[in-house]
Amino acid sequence: MPLAAAERALLDERRPLTRDEALAVARLPLDDLPALIALAHRVRLAWCGPEVELESLINAKSGACAEDCAFCSQSAHFDTGVEVYPFLDLDEVLAAARATRDAGATQFCIVVAVRGPSERLLDKVIKAVTAVRDETGLEVACSLGLLEPAQAARLAAAGVRRYNHNLEAPRAVFGSICTTHSYDDRVATAHLAIDAGMELCCGGILGLGETLEQRVDFAFELAALEPCEVPVNLFDPRPGTPLADTPVLSPREALQAIALFRLVLPGAWIRLAGGREKILGELQSMGLYAGANALIIGNYLTTLGRSPEEDVALLESLGMPVAGGGPGEGRFVVAADGTHALPAKPVRKLIPLDAS
Ligand code: SF4
Repeated sequence: MPLAAAERALLDERRPLTRDEALAVARLPLDDLPALIALAHRVRLAWCGPEVELESLINAKSGACAEDCAFCSQSAHFDTGVEVYPFLDLDEVLAAARATRDAGATQFCIVVAVRGPSERLLDKVIKAVTAVRDETGLEVACSLGLLEPAQAARLAAAGVRRYNHNLEAPRAVFGSICTTHSYDDRVATAHLAIDAGMELCCGGILGLGETLEQRVDFAFELAALEPCEVPVNLFDPRPGTPLADTPVLSPREALQAIALFRLVLPGAWIRLAGGREKILGELQSMGLYAGANALIIGNYLTTLGRSPEEDVALLESLGMPVAGGGPGEGRFVVAADGTHALPAKPVRKLIPLDAS
């Protein structure tokens, strides 16, 4: 019954689920997972089409972060042995961008491990964004931590297409995994990114000890921000962090979570990110049938992924085309005539470039 109600809402009435409807689906036994996955796949096709968006990341400034996020090996608060280096030379960023383009991806995300960027760091990032765009034509995203309004405006003006700022965990859990900034700080930067005119990429990490109900709440908290993209990291505990001994999700729990995210965020790019190889294991391809329609290819920030060629071959065997890039692409929806179109975006008042 809960799946039939969800199907009616999402496919017939074409509306998002209510919290009660999503919770009813979440409470189904894991033995019902195949039916949930089948529905999530149909919802993904109906709302987004068959394409899968590929992106790679560069950890352009690693480690020594002043924040104390308990899951993160880049925090200076924990002894994790992670590599520490300042912002990479432009040549290294460009080499990674070229490799991203050559692997068939369209999105390139410049990530730095900081609470938020200093003006000096922001200057370097903007220089790198311009160089990557000019040389490769890739769509460039940035993940630089908490922003000030003027910084968001500068990034948007430099052509940053998408800004990543994850909420990381449900509101009810966040305070137990980070004390140096608040959940509302994160929400504020998510709003700033949109208000500056960038697309919002906002997701988190599943398996940080949240309950199933909190996981559903998390999907709704993200949906309230109307993100274009939702990265789903599956928690893979890092040695030396306070969460090093946290039990991980089972593959079936992870697939259930991905499918629930698709039902709650039907029109977003749901991107499988860190932990997918480790947590899903043999069931990795099922993640793409459970509603995910985007992948991080190559390595993650501090952990290794598999080769991009393996992922491209996987998509080919699943009959899922790689999404093309280019201006105006972004999130897909399927129009009434069956073609892909961009959703109507609310008109927002942009932050002026000289905002403080
Ligand atoms: S702010 Fe980012 S880099 Fe810094 S500790 Fe938290 S998750 Fe890690």
